Amino acid sequence: MSLLDDLRAELAELDAAHLRRARRANEIPCGAKMRVDGKELLSFCSNDYLGLAADPAVAKALLEGVVRYGTGSGASHLVSGHYVAHDELEARLAAFTGRERALYFTTGYMANTGVIPALAGRKDAIFADKLIHASLVDGALLSRATLIRYPHNDLDALEGALEATSAPRKLIVTDAVFSMDGDVAPLARLLELAEAHDAWLIVDDAHGFGVLGPQGRGTLAEAGLDSWRIVLIGTLGKAAGVSGAFVAGHADVIEYLLQKARTGIFTTASPPALAQALLTSIDLIEAGDFRRHRLFALVDAFRRHLRLTRWKLLPSRTAVQPVVIGDNAEALRVAQALRDAGVVVPAIRPPTVPAGTARLRVSLSARHEIEDVLRLADLLNALEAF
Ligand code: PMP
Repeated sequence: MSLLDDLRAELAELDAAHLRRARRANEIPCGAKMRVDGKELLSFCSNDYLGLAADPAVAKALLEGVVRYGTGSGASHLVSGHYVAHDELEARLAAFTGRERALYFTTGYMANTGVIPALAGRKDAIFADKLIHASLVDGALLSRATLIRYPHNDLDALEGALEATSAPRKLIVTDAVFSMDGDVAPLARLLELAEAHDAWLIVDDAHGFGVLGPQGRGTLAEAGLDSWRIVLIGTLGKAAGVSGAFVAGHADVIEYLLQKARTGIFTTASPPALAQALLTSIDLIEAGDFRRHRLFALVDAFRRHLRLTRWKLLPSRTAVQPVVIGDNAEALRVAQALRDAGVVVPAIRPPTVPAGTARLRVSLSARHEIEDVLRLADLLNALEAF
């Protein structure tokens, strides 16, 4: 029994540290509300920032895709699993983000764990912000390059590290919008450093794509940045409301990744019907200024109505609005008190965020009503004072 006992002991450790997680099975489509065990709850959990995850037009496109292509792709992209819908989606994503070419991946996790090891190897060096997403960290570890983490957005530290390296290939890796903090990376200065040190700049725009920039074209478009050395990664399960991811950039870089990124090569292509649905998502994102205006009005209302003294609302202008509580047990207690009041907000704890910064990750969606957001702010104000 000792192998099992080891696992049980580790699970008990998670319990003791208030780190054991559980899933809730939702009975209704993704939206402002969820229903769990028959009980309706107001939800601030999803990354469905524009409310497209249950949009009828996207659902219709998915059904049409199934009628046209069936359910499965049958093989990997390089064998016979690549369909016209995939091609159209890649062309649309490249044009939409203003890059030469794009490559579709099954998930953001797979894009990140494919792109980084394709571009960096054992002798190379990866310079990564301390708060990048776990999938980028895993990509860096898979590459076996030397991984150097710099303090969050500390470009002096990054510059020092770049100056000190003799690695032949250098990659700077950052989230564009940090997933647990909601702040935006200093992309223009990162690109300057990448140019000065002849490094690649890998930008994961999972939380900016669809939300920031003109027509939701993303954080790089907002900053007006383009360069052959930028490798843009965007995910399609968040604002785009479906699933999948893309990598976009210089045509030669994308061709190289098509040949080399193992998570794109050794996996069955995702169903072409999803690509068909995503074509409609991109149309809705492009035409969705009214959704973004609504989202930003909700962000503004939430920030204005929250009056915290002990806890800290992080400075964020995006849909991710984190309230840092600090202690794991207290964060869980607050999340439970909200839950008792019919509101679900995820308590994010280490290792997802640094120790001592357990937080409620409030994420807002164009599906919320202003009253929903004010209700959450009122509850938080009351719980902090309690
Ligand atoms: N990058 C970031 C910044 C993310 O937040 C996430 C998902 N939480 C991913 C990548 C992974 O994307 P996916 O969910 O499509 O695997």
